Amino acid sequence: MNNQTRAQNGESADDSDSDFTNEQLTGNIHKIAIVPPNYTGKPKKGHLIFDACFECGNLGRVDYISDFEYDLFIRPDTCNARFRIWFNFTVENVKQEQRVVFNVVNFSKSKSLYREGMSPLRVVFNVVNFSKSKSLYREGMSPLVKSTSRPKWQRIPAKNVFYYRCPEHKRNYVMSFVFCFDVEDDVYQFAYSFPYSYTKLQNYLQILDNRSLDYYDRELLALSVQQRRLDLVTICDPELKNTSEKKRKLVIITARVHPGETPSSYVCQGLIEFLVSPHPIAKVLRENVIFKIIPMLNPDGVFLGNYRCSLMGFDLNRVWQDPSPWAHPELFAAKAQVLSLDKDPSMDLDFFIDIHAHSTMMNGFMYGNIYEDPNRYERQAIFPKLLCSNADDFSMSNTSFNRDAVKAGTGRRTLGGSLDENCNCYTLEVSFFSYQPAGFNHPIPYTEEEYMKLGRNLARTFLDFYKLQNYIVFNPSAAIMPKLNNSAGFSSYRSNNTLTNGNGNNPLLGNNLNNSTNGKKRSPTTMSQQPLKPISSSSMSNHNGNSSSSMSNGSQNSNAATNENKPKFFIDNSLE
Ligand SMILES: [Zn+2]
Repeated sequence: MNNQTRAQNGESADDSDSDFTNEQLTGNIHKIAIVPPNYTGKPKKGHLIFDACFECGNLGRVDYISDFEYDLFIRPDTCNARFRIWFNFTVENVKQEQRVVFNVVNFSKSKSLYREGMSPLRVVFNVVNFSKSKSLYREGMSPLVKSTSRPKWQRIPAKNVFYYRCPEHKRNYVMSFVFCFDVEDDVYQFAYSFPYSYTKLQNYLQILDNRSLDYYDRELLALSVQQRRLDLVTICDPELKNTSEKKRKLVIITARVHPGETPSSYVCQGLIEFLVSPHPIAKVLRENVIFKIIPMLNPDGVFLGNYRCSLMGFDLNRVWQDPSPWAHPELFAAKAQVLSLDKDPSMDLDFFIDIHAHSTMMNGFMYGNIYEDPNRYERQAIFPKLLCSNADDFSMSNTSFNRDAVKAGTGRRTLGGSLDENCNCYTLEVSFFSYQPAGFNHPIPYTEEEYMKLGRNLARTFLDFYKLQNYIVFNPSAAIMPKLNNSAGFSSYRSNNTLTNGNGNNPLLGNNLNNSTNGKKRSPTTMSQQPLKPISSSSMSNHNGNSSSSMSNGSQNSNAATNENKPKFFIDNSLE
């Protein structure tokens, strides 16, 4: 289709979100050489060959516009043309120093994806050489790129990425980026975010299986429609697992119900990695808390390269109320598991946390519920505040609590209404793009490592919540671990209606949560002596989040930390 034809189509097109073109894009392109119209013969060097026929791949069509410009069409989710965000494809047969403009032309029509008012694309070839492009990022979406000779993902510099509404594409939101291929023999891969495949998870879990850890267990909860594994990982000390002397604390964490939200898998892997590590905090957690983790709730959607849906086109985070065993077997099994654990009299289910990624907001943040019981409602704020004090990238001002009707089918809403009233149910969101810690006046792009760090900080926040700091022994071989009894450690944050900690302080009113536990002064040397390498160095300072006594819902939060004052470039449409 040439430019003129495209323009004519665009002017007369309706604004429907599942238009004819997208309905036709039902498969990924497979090693197609894009050559000029009327060109016959074998593709020459520089006739780009596109491929998305691999696990998590997504690219439905490529149109040749000129030797230096190509229109790219995202393949919609299987059986659901509404969602078109995730792309992941390779390009080869490039020419040295070949400069191109890629226009991704059929994103879902979500205004909030992009900043309004971006100027139209000006094709200026100020392309920075791929290998030299560092530290040029700004806020907003930048695609990722890697190549065979440089296998680490890099973000394409923001100055080479343009967003605009395009009259030639039905006024769709279009993202264009300019790029220079610099190594002729390389295969280049472009993706919306860091891919994290079903196979990658299986390989990771296999490595853990092979370690034969007595505190780690993996079981098959169910098979997906396409017969992929729905794994349930349990991490806890065998002694705790087998005890019948006390009620055991239980935390359930799920991730990747939305397949395109790959950062959630990195957060989840960071959490698992920390919990199975020999770190003294991890050891204390394993001895006192049972962690049950479902790392990939939608294995088919992930495998297929969908953004939001399962194989059959269902948004699985809208079917928690009544999952079907045949249409949503993953959700059916996951919900049954959570409900049966909730009913188990030997356990107290304290947390259900479902990890997602957010396409418009910065930082990590949480969604929680609104409850009639004010004590329950306020108790719910404690964990995000503790996480905020542990993680530079977590924002209390982005954290909010709601009961929007459109979210009734989400995990945290449905389970928040049906689990024991002591269970805190959250969605944990993390930005696809960037975060802004206190003291920084510009956003920092997330890396895979930064996502994993959020997972580690999430894990370690349970230590604070359960007030287990006193049980850390830094040289386990030289000291005997004190045993918890029923009255120590656990009860303070969990179900204390007066919302006081052991000192009678109200944890919501800005007391230093890190200096006292259960009335005892925490050893001032314990944390500082510990080489807390995996966790942020500023993690023990309450740089934000602890000074407000009200529930944070963004505008009401008056915290002055930089994190809280950062500019919001997008409207949050909260696609949780
Ligand atoms: Zn999501």
